[in-house]
Order: sequence, then C-alpha cells, then structure tokens
Amino acid sequence: MVSITCYGGVDEIGGNKIIVRDGDTRFSFDFGTSFKRRHDYFEEYLKPRPGVGLRDVLYMDLLPRLEGIYRHDLVSRADFWSQWRAAPDYRRLTLDGVLLSHAHLDHSGYISFLDPEIPIYSTVMTAFISKAMQDSGQADFESEVCYANLRKLDKGVLRSAKISKQRPFVFVDGMPGSGTASSFWNRLPAKTKEFQLTTNASPPDKIGSLPLRHLPVDHSIYGATAFAVQTSEGWLGYTGDLRLHGGDQEETRRFTAEMRKKSPLALICEGTRAGDASGASEADVYENALREVRQARSLVVADFGARNVERLVTFLGIARETGRKLVVLGKDAYLLEAMHLASLQRVPDIRSCPDILVYEAPKAAVRPWERELRERYASRVVGANDVRQQQGECILCFSFWDANDLIDIEPEEGVYIYSSSEAYSEEQEMDLRRLRNWLKHLDMRFVGDPEGGDQRFHSSGHASGPDLLEIVRTIGPRILVPIHTEDAQYFVTNLRSEGIDVRVPRWGEEMVLQS
Ligand SMILES: [Zn+2]
Repeated sequence: MVSITCYGGVDEIGGNKIIVRDGDTRFSFDFGTSFKRRHDYFEEYLKPRPGVGLRDVLYMDLLPRLEGIYRHDLVSRADFWSQWRAAPDYRRLTLDGVLLSHAHLDHSGYISFLDPEIPIYSTVMTAFISKAMQDSGQADFESEVCYANLRKLDKGVLRSAKISKQRPFVFVDGMPGSGTASSFWNRLPAKTKEFQLTTNASPPDKIGSLPLRHLPVDHSIYGATAFAVQTSEGWLGYTGDLRLHGGDQEETRRFTAEMRKKSPLALICEGTRAGDASGASEADVYENALREVRQARSLVVADFGARNVERLVTFLGIARETGRKLVVLGKDAYLLEAMHLASLQRVPDIRSCPDILVYEAPKAAVRPWERELRERYASRVVGANDVRQQQGECILCFSFWDANDLIDIEPEEGVYIYSSSEAYSEEQEMDLRRLRNWLKHLDMRFVGDPEGGDQRFHSSGHASGPDLLEIVRTIGPRILVPIHTEDAQYFVTNLRSEGIDVRVPRWGEEMVLQS
C-alpha cells in the first residue's frame, strides 16, 4: 500500500512535511518550518524553549507526534514519549531519508529536530546554501539544518553538550570536485575542527528500496529540484516550489516533460499563486530598477534576499551600467562564496568582482567566520562613513532588518527599492508597515511597495495560476494533491472535469494512493 500524510503545507504556504510510505520504505518530501502555525503562538521574543527540547514544538502542534524520527538529545526524560501516546496523530515511525527540494526554511527548517542519523537528499547547491545560512546565522535550535548542536540533560534542563553532529547529506547531483568545496562543507565555523564525514561518491538512484530521480526546476533560489519516486503503485512526483517564467524555465519544462513520460500515478504540486495572473519577469525587474537607479541622485537601497542570485546578478548589472558599486552584507558575501563553490559556472566568484564591496556593520562581537571574511576582502570592506560619503556611488543591499544601519549612513534623498516577495503573513505585513515608517522618518522614497500592488521590482519564485494548470495538464497525473497553498479549490475547480482526481489533503490524515 502506498500512502502520503501531510504534516504541513495544508491550507498554508510552506511548512511542507509529506511522509510517504510504501512497504518498508518511508521517507519525507521536505521537512519545513510551518511559519503560519508557529506565528499563531510564537514570535521573536516568545520562542520554543531549547532547554525543554522537543516539548514545546510537540505540545503546540508545530510537529507531529512521531516517535522514532526526532533527535534523542532533545528529549528531557526517559519516559518522554509516554505522554504523547494517546494523541490522535501519535505513531511510531522510522525514515529512510528526507528528499529536500530547496533551501528555503519553509521546506528545510524543521530538519533541525530530526534524528541526525537520517540522511538528507538534496542538491549540492541546496546543501551549501543551507550550511552558509546556518554558519552565519544566530545559533538557534530551530535552524540546525546541516549540523545538530547536541544537548545533554543537566539537572532537568537540556544544555549544550558542545558537540556538533553533521547530518549525512546525500548529494543527488554528485559531489563537487574541488577540495575547497569539501573543506567548506566539513568545517564547523566556530572551531578549527572539521567534521570527518564522507559523502556519497555518486548520485543515489534509490530512496529506501524505491527508484528515485531528481529533476531540477526553476525557482527563486538556485539548487531547487523536484523529485520522482517509483512506488509499487506507479510514479509519484513532487514539485517542491517552481515557476515557468524565470531564467531556468527550461528546467521546469524538462521536469514536466520527464514526468509526463512516466505517466505518474500522482503529483504533489505547489499552489502558492493559484488563481494569480502572471507578473513581472526578471527582465522587467532589470528594466524597471535600472530606470529608478538612473534617476536616483543619491543612495539606492535594494531590498532582496541574496539567496536569490538571479536578483543579485540583476542589481550587479544595474550597478555596472550606472557606475555604482554593489555593497553587500558580510553574511551575503559568505553565502555567495559558498554558492560559488557549489557551482563555479553559475554563481559569480566575488573575489573577481571588484565592484562588489562588503559592508562592515558596527558589531560588539565579530564571529570567526566574519573576521576571516573581512580579512579576505580587506581592501573592499566599507563602513557607514564610507557609504555616507559616496551615497551616489552605491547600491546598498539591505533589508528591513538592517534599518538601524541606515541611521549611521544618514541617507540624503535616498531611494529604497523593494524587490522582494509580497507579504504572505500578518508578521510580514507588520514588518512592511514598520519599514514604511522607517523610510518616512529617514525621508527616503519607497518604490515597489507591495501594498499598493506595485509588482514592477519583483519577479515571483512561484508559477502563476495559469502556469500551474499548464504544468499539471502537461504531466497528466491520475491523482493531484495540491500543497503549499491557501487556495486548493483552484485546482479542484479547474481540473476536476478533465479526469484528474484532485485530492485536497488534510493535516495528519493518511491518504492512500491506488492505481
Ligand atoms: Zn521556496
């Protein structure tokens, strides 16, 4: 019997955790953070407590009660699991692996809580982005995607055991050749010590006992892939996040053509923008942002995530065309270096881009990775004073979270280009409201405000409604399971009459897939 159970991505955008069972094989498509559920209870200053390990996240339904798949070091007492056995979603389970589609945290974040013996199947790019984010981010037990910082019980509280355990990643596209790449992968940033984990020499062709294919797709982050698994009832496809209008749209088309050939039993398909019409392309973003930068007389701030390399390259091109320098944060430079190691061809080597400068924020404590980075780029490190004195010669890659630093820069007649996704949650809307207040206070012009429906400066990472339907129709699965959407009915309405069995999942409910 083949079944899937969705523990996230149900009536929400992100949080995908889809457990598949077929005979002895059990695995999960992604294991992301359900930000919507998390924000129902928690926020910046009220977080699940590391000292009680799994207790808060299980108690508040952020994770399903599945004994056997989580970290043993996050259990605060020997009989920990006995309290959950009466819960309706309680089960015993083992996993052969997680098929991780890409490095966005709503797909990867809660890998943090999984037993670090469970293999994570991903592209090298996804693994390297995840590691750079973990290395340069704040230590946080909700973001231990690549290595788990183990805890030990001390007088009833879980405290740091000062040991990190690297998760066994299985690179679905093979190991990168360079020694620098494997040294980055094996290095723990806070220490000189290296992990000693050997990775797979060749790409895997199975998950558990089932044949596995990875099929790269186009998304707003490099390394994104869909997966196809041949179950005992037929092929099962999982899109991850994808689009048909970005620079790698041919990959998405190849994926749909390959899936079609397999006459799949079922397709689990994302639906972030179900019902939305198509929006701006990356080329539109380039033209629209170029026009703004040309008109700007002073500082330009470009707000986008550096993980979106396509957008970074867009702004690097604009900087070059307008004679400005692109100023990036240290953590973004670190991320770019990691991405370059994962793909020498696709990601620019910032060492050979003298027009990229590294911003040095005044920090009380500088961590070892950042100190080393500043040494590597010593001649290209700039602080607030430098930027203030050459406002008209910079494009500053900042986001709302760096607003404090704008105080030191004292922008004059500055322009803030919002080139990021629209607000998907109340928290994001609140952050946008604060951002508006900041810009008003700093007397900066705000362009691309998503509230006004201005989409000129952002090309979405997700396929539009019509594109989603085209993808599904081309693949032609017998069963369609919409996920990662608040509008699953869109698929029901549009595809039911075409002989596709659209099944809307319910959280924690096992769905049997039969041919
Ligand atoms: Zn994504």
